[in-house]
Amino acid sequence: MKCPVCGDRLTGRIAQDQYFCRECCVEFGWRDGALAVWALDADGEPVPVAAPSAPREEVRRCAASGRA
Ligand SMILES: [Zn+2]
Repeated sequence: MKCPVCGDRLTGRIAQDQYFCRECCVEFGWRDGALAVWALDADGEPVPVAAPSAPREEVRRCAASGRA
């Protein structure tokens, strides 16, 4: 599954129809027929990410926080 944010194929499946991108540290999957993208904050809470227009700098911060 290609990452909807960065287009990278370095994604891992974490659940049925749910994937994680190691490149930009977001999770994404299908919800009610629409592709949803979210990132996890420091507390592990999902934060919705607007894709595919999410600025790379913003999602990069997650990777820098050590979850990658
Ligand atoms: Zn990505």
